[in-house]
Amino acid sequence: MADRYLSFTGTAPGRFLTRRLGLPRPAPLRRWSQERPALDGGLLHLTAGASRLDLAPVLARTGLPTDEAAGKPAAVVLDATGVRTVEDLDEVHAALHPVVRSVAESGRIVVLGAPLDTADHHQAAAQQALEGFTRSLGKETGGGRTVNLVRLTDASAAESTLRFLLSPKSAYVSGQVIAVGDQESPAPEDADRPLTGRTALVTGAARGIGEAVAATLARDGAEVVVLDVPQAEEDARRVAERIGGSVLLLDMTAADAGARIAEALPGGLDVLVHNAGITRDRRLVNMAKDRWSSVLDVNLGSVLRTTDALLEAGALRRDGRIVTTASIAGIAGNAGQTNYGASKAGVTGLVRALAPRALAEHGVTVNAVAPGFIETKMTAAVPLIIREAGRRMNSLAQGGLPVDVAETTAWFAHPGSGAVNGQVVRVCGQSLLGA
Ligand code: NAD
Repeated sequence: MADRYLSFTGTAPGRFLTRRLGLPRPAPLRRWSQERPALDGGLLHLTAGASRLDLAPVLARTGLPTDEAAGKPAAVVLDATGVRTVEDLDEVHAALHPVVRSVAESGRIVVLGAPLDTADHHQAAAQQALEGFTRSLGKETGGGRTVNLVRLTDASAAESTLRFLLSPKSAYVSGQVIAVGDQESPAPEDADRPLTGRTALVTGAARGIGEAVAATLARDGAEVVVLDVPQAEEDARRVAERIGGSVLLLDMTAADAGARIAEALPGGLDVLVHNAGITRDRRLVNMAKDRWSSVLDVNLGSVLRTTDALLEAGALRRDGRIVTTASIAGIAGNAGQTNYGASKAGVTGLVRALAPRALAEHGVTVNAVAPGFIETKMTAAVPLIIREAGRRMNSLAQGGLPVDVAETTAWFAHPGSGAVNGQVVRVCGQSLLGA
C-alpha cells in the first residue's frame, strides 16, 4: 500500500502545508542499491573523554572519505567510550553541538559507548546517560537521519556493525542501543557477497518480510531455502525461482519440523531465520482459546522446539547464526494483541537466555529483529486511522519496508558479526510507542 502522504509532502504544496500546520514531514529514506551502495558524503570522527579504541583503521575501511573536501558529513561517529563522569559528558555536547546541523539528510550519527562498569557508579551513570542522549537526539534530528549507540570494547570486532550502521542499509534503524562483544570473527573473502558458500533457511519466506529476507541473503551470496506452509506453495516457488533458491514446504508447528529441516539439509545449515508469524487479534475478554494457542505456538512454541531440535542434532554449523523475529508489540504491548505481544516478548526472552550458551556450546549467535510498522499485506489490512498512526508515530514519520528488516537480518547473519549476540534490535524508525 503506497504511502501517499510521504509522496505529497515531497511536493511544493505539501511542503508548504505540512510546515504551516506542523504536520509530520517524512523524508524519503536513502536505502541501499547496487548503483548507490554507500552514503553520499564524508565521515567525521569525533571523541569525548579519553578513548583507548583503535577506531581509525576500522572507520577507514568503511570507504567513506574523512577529509574536509567531502563536504557535509553523511556520517558522524562520536567515540564516547572514555566518558566516565558527568563532567566528561560536557565533551559530548562540545563535540556534537557544532556539527549536528550540518549532517546531510539521511545521514548517520553513531555514538560509541563502553559497557557499564558496575564497580564504578559514576562511569555507569555517565555511560547510561549516553542512551537517553542518543534516543533524544534521534527524536529531534529529522530529515531521515538516524542516531544509534553501540557499546563496545574492541573496534575491529564491531566492524560489521559499524559498517551496517554507517550505510544506507540501516535506513529504518534508529534510537537503538547495540552491545557488541570482543569475539574476533574473520572477514569474508568476498565483501560484496559475504554469505558465499553458506546455506540459509528462512521460515515464512513465501511473501512479506520473509520474502525480502530470502532475497537479501541471496544477494549476499547465500544458498537460500524458502520455507513456508504447503498452502503457500505457489508463492514459495515463485520466490525461490527469483532468487535461485530451493523450497521446503513445511508447517513449522509440526512436532517433527526440526527433524524434517535437518533431513532436508544433510550438509548442515549456517543461517536460520525464524520469520514465520501470525496474528489473531482480539481483546482478551473476547479471545477464544484457539486464537491464544495458535499464535503462541506459531510465533514462540515452534521457534523454541525447532531451535532446540536443530542445535541438538548439530544441524547448525559452527559460526552459524540464528535470527528470530520479535516485534515492538512484544516490547510496548498492543491493545488486542495479548497473545501476539506475549509470543513476541517470549522470543526476546529466548534470545537473551540462549545466546551465551549457543555461542559457547555451538559457536552460533542468537539475535532478534523487532520490526515496528512495516508496509506489508499484514499492515495494509489495518484500519486507516490506526494505520496512519502506526506510520507517523516514529522519528522518521513513515513505515518501514520489508527490506529494512531484511538488511538488519543480513547484518546479524554476516560472517563478521560473531561478536553480535543476544541483541534485540528494533527496526521501527524509533517508534514513539514503548521503550
Ligand atoms: P505475512 O503474514 O505477510 O507472512 C508470514 C508468512 O509466514 C506467510 O507466508 C505464512 O504462510 C508463513 N507462515 C505462517 N505460519 C506458518 C507456519 N506455521 N509454518 C510456516 N510458515 C508459516 O507476515 P509479515 O508481515 O511478512 O511478518 C513476518 C514476521 O514479522 C512475522 O513474524 C511477524 O509477526 C513479524 N512482524 C511483522 C510486522 C509488520 O509490520 N508487518 C511488525 C512486527 C513483526
